[in-house]
Amino acid sequence: MKVAVFVIGLVLLVIGLLGAAYGWFVATGLETTHAFACGPGGPGEPYPGWCAALLSSASGYRTFAYGMVALFSVGVVLSVAGGIMKDVPSAPTMIMAPPPIPPQGALHTCKNCGRSMPTTDRFCPSCGTAQW
Ligand SMILES: [Zn+2]
Repeated sequence: MKVAVFVIGLVLLVIGLLGAAYGWFVATGLETTHAFACGPGGPGEPYPGWCAALLSSASGYRTFAYGMVALFSVGVVLSVAGGIMKDVPSAPTMIMAPPPIPPQGALHTCKNCGRSMPTTDRFCPSCGTAQW
């Protein structure tokens, strides 16, 4: 479970990082193209609306990059959580350790049925006779 969270976090982290870099790179490229082709002195747009479409897709890629940054953040949180969770199971394991065996002197034999039982038990677990 914890390993799965850690791995999923790492995968999201890498995908988010690559996606953000890709989206940002493409958006910057489109904006550079727009500045060159649609700016003063440029060749102008090949057809009406081309510059607007260029800017629109540039902002789309920019939004995509932001989304990937969010994915990257989720990946960071998940992988950190997975890393922290690794330490948690060791504590319950220690609590789940078998209870200490009572010393020999703490046992006594039921006066009714002869069953061996801890002196701390008020009633015999076998026959129910009160011991003290
Ligand atoms: Zn008994």
